[in-house]
Amino acid sequence: KFITFEGIDGAGKSTHIGFVNDFLASRGKTVVSSREPGGTPLGEKLRELLLHEKMHLETEALLMFASRREHVAQVIEPNLAQGNWVLSDRFTDASFAYQSGGRGLDRAKMEALEAWVHPHLQPDLTLLFDVPLEVARERLDATRTLDKFEREQADFFQKCRNEYLRRAAQFPDRIVVVDSTRTIGEIQLRLAGVLEK
Ligand code: C5P
Repeated sequence: KFITFEGIDGAGKSTHIGFVNDFLASRGKTVVSSREPGGTPLGEKLRELLLHEKMHLETEALLMFASRREHVAQVIEPNLAQGNWVLSDRFTDASFAYQSGGRGLDRAKMEALEAWVHPHLQPDLTLLFDVPLEVARERLDATRTLDKFEREQADFFQKCRNEYLRRAAQFPDRIVVVDSTRTIGEIQLRLAGVLEK
């Protein structure tokens, strides 16, 4: 099975990936945890460029999907074929949220890239960690320095969040919205419930 983790920066998704990994492993599953952009040697090089270089919006979208193409071919599909579980910190929903919702790239272009790069692959489950912007920013400020993306205006993250929630409404069978203002313990209980199902 393929599970993806989504949410705006500071929503806490990275905290919960480890929990899901251990939960599944304790039930005897072979679990591979990965991330995007990144997840392969070439993907990690692309990630460095994406996080630190100024570039055209469409260049950014294309490099995100270039990283994804490698990730699908080298990590996701081979592991799923072996019956392993794959957890990915971000996948295509993030491209819709950030490049389309946040930066305004035409959704039709995203859909075309999605149809090109993974026409038959969708996550079995997407966990969307959702928090109001103020909470996300507080968490980020408390734990680490802001990167290139995070320094941009709060308005940008609001648009990303809106797009995530729009997609959750569009794909209710796949995307589970997790209220990330809850305590870590409460969220883990909720995640365990979702995974049991
Ligand atoms: O999830 P993670 O914190 O590793 O993401 C790294 C950065 O890349 C984030 O700051 C996020 O804003 C940005 N990003 C993006 N578009 C994507 C995926 C991530 O702008 N499709």
